[in-house]
Amino acid sequence: MSAETPGATMRALVLRAFGGPLYLEQLPRPAPGPGEVRIRVAACGLGLTVDHAMAGRLPSPTRKLPVIPGHEVAGVVEALGPGVTEPAVGQRVITSFYLTCGSCRFCRAGREPLCERFRGYLGADADGGYAEYVVVPAANALPLPDALDLVAATAIPDAIGTPFHVCHTRAGVRPGQRVLVTGAAGGVGVHMVQMARACGAEVIALDVDDARLARLPDYGASTVLSWPRVAGLSPQQAGLDRGVDVAIDLVGQAAVLAWCFAALDRGGTLVSLTTHTRLEALPVPSHLLVNKEATVMGSRYVARWELLRAIELVARGVIRPVVSETCDLAGAAALFERLRAGQLFGRGAVLPA
Ligand SMILES: [Zn+2]
Repeated sequence: MSAETPGATMRALVLRAFGGPLYLEQLPRPAPGPGEVRIRVAACGLGLTVDHAMAGRLPSPTRKLPVIPGHEVAGVVEALGPGVTEPAVGQRVITSFYLTCGSCRFCRAGREPLCERFRGYLGADADGGYAEYVVVPAANALPLPDALDLVAATAIPDAIGTPFHVCHTRAGVRPGQRVLVTGAAGGVGVHMVQMARACGAEVIALDVDDARLARLPDYGASTVLSWPRVAGLSPQQAGLDRGVDVAIDLVGQAAVLAWCFAALDRGGTLVSLTTHTRLEALPVPSHLLVNKEATVMGSRYVARWELLRAIELVARGVIRPVVSETCDLAGAAALFERLRAGQLFGRGAVLPA
């Protein structure tokens, strides 16, 4: 826990028990310690990862409580801790989600999501962005161009950054490939569709809700599939005349994973991003793995160099952030209810001020 700034306070949402309510409280304003910066939060993303964290489903090393949730921060640096020279006061920034050491062999290789001394998650193991101010390690605050809207920018740290890592670095999506995205209307999904399309792929989008599916062609999906309608069908019966080169699963349910594997073309790759499912949920006989020369791979978050690239893609209009609903601190509980009911398209955002 950071030190406090004498006399100064802030409003914040506090989680006191996993699965419990968020309390709107007046707290001491945190002061940045050595190597840290304080950000005045303009907006902080609201999506399923935060919901998993608040329910205790994130594999958080410290399980800190009470905690201020929220990790997709966009704001302005307004105080520097000892030893920090950048980002400077007044710099617009977004935050990266993982608290990493910066010096192990994976951090030095630009693969800090694999950090050997991983300290946890912003908003779960350290207080996050559902507050007027947040303190983060300076290395976690990444500069944002002046032209980018701060609410839209809340989609970059996770909802856009994660697809960058999947499509470019892990799966290496190529022009002309076919890519299946499950959970495609969600916060990460709608940006995964865009990222795969931006790589030149034909994108097939799978989700559960017709109204939200109908919006996905605007973001680059050429085919939309309703899970309730295709769950009992083979991919061929569902209209996929040939297999997909890459299937990206954001759902993590056994039946969906199995459907993704069945949909793979020869030489195809299944990418799993969920951490709350056991992989024995994917019953793949080894002869199918061999005969298809299939690859099953995991993808974990996104490195900071990739986030800088993701910022560029948004700045150039290649990826359009989808933050469809916003609320103030008091309205967050209701927006989480809409998220859990499957009514939120793309991401939401909490605006603390
Ligand atoms: Zn490290």
